[in-house]
Amino acid sequence: MYLAHFPRRFLAHLPTPLEKLDRLSAELGGPEIWIKRDDCTGLSTGGNKTRKLEFLMAEAELQGADVVMTQGATQSNHARQTAAFAAKMGMGCHILLEDRTGSNDPNYNDSGNVLLDHLHGATTEKCAGGLDMNAEMEKAADALRAKGKKVYTIPGGGSNATGALGYVNCAYEMLTQFNERGMTVDHIVHATGSAGTQAGLITGLKATNAKVPLLGVGVRAPKAKQEENVYNLACATADKLGCSGVVAREDVIANTDYVGDGYGIATDSGLEAIRMFAELESILLDPVYSAKGAAGLIDLIRKGHFKKGERIVFLHTGGSAALFGYQFAFDYADRWKTAG
Ligand SMILES: *Cc1c(COP(=O)(O)O)cnc(C)c1O
Repeated sequence: MYLAHFPRRFLAHLPTPLEKLDRLSAELGGPEIWIKRDDCTGLSTGGNKTRKLEFLMAEAELQGADVVMTQGATQSNHARQTAAFAAKMGMGCHILLEDRTGSNDPNYNDSGNVLLDHLHGATTEKCAGGLDMNAEMEKAADALRAKGKKVYTIPGGGSNATGALGYVNCAYEMLTQFNERGMTVDHIVHATGSAGTQAGLITGLKATNAKVPLLGVGVRAPKAKQEENVYNLACATADKLGCSGVVAREDVIANTDYVGDGYGIATDSGLEAIRMFAELESILLDPVYSAKGAAGLIDLIRKGHFKKGERIVFLHTGGSAALFGYQFAFDYADRWKTAG
């Protein structure tokens, strides 16, 4: 099985680094923690959507699209990476941003990822929370098509079987890095949302018979719903690859204990994870995704679920640009002081 026959627009900085987190591992006193740096994919502050967009944007180009359209939450990292990818390809980009949090904070609404969407030339429109956003997007796309535009629509998070190929590729990339270093891995952990990352990874891991367990830490949906979304997309991805049936339902595991009050609402455990990664490892997490994923990792180590003697890889899916949209969640007034 190989990926080379799928259209792909190479743009990400790959392979992303795989690094050992000595200070975090020592602080927690449990397993050896490594990090796969998909926050370093290179496109406009990086992140996991770039791998998916390599396959999606190649398809858009082949179909002769002049505009791409996508949707996400206000501080969507996917929207920002799509805007940047479209700019690089000389395509127009229009984004529907769903107000999932109801925040009136000016940074949340105009800084962080939203500022970058606009810097890359994309236009945005705001939608009320709770709508069927993919349906709203198709309506907006039809309006543009009626004006003669060739529109390619990308679902939220870039999560369809085409986008998930990017994470099948990431599974291969990680296995190659493990093999090159003679490194056994007991678990891979990452944040899971629109499901494409976990679906692609589990398909790649199962198709290669890697036997490395994968845990997705949820950021929105309840466990049963999240696992069902991932499983269905993994099946579609395996079909596309010609290896139907490699993923079993029980291979898909999500832990949704770290969502807190809801999607995009910062949690205490996530803010603690942000501080620990920043102060111990100089790595930036984001409050919406990677911090909740890391909070799950940290808590499961503290509870002894992941133990000394094991080796865990945390896949960092990016999102640091959102920090500037969430300044209100942090209080660092006490860091302003005179020395001594
Ligand atoms: C989108 C996103 C995720 C979740 O990936 P999915 O493929 O949507 O499950 C995790 N982390 C960050 C920073 C993201 O932007």
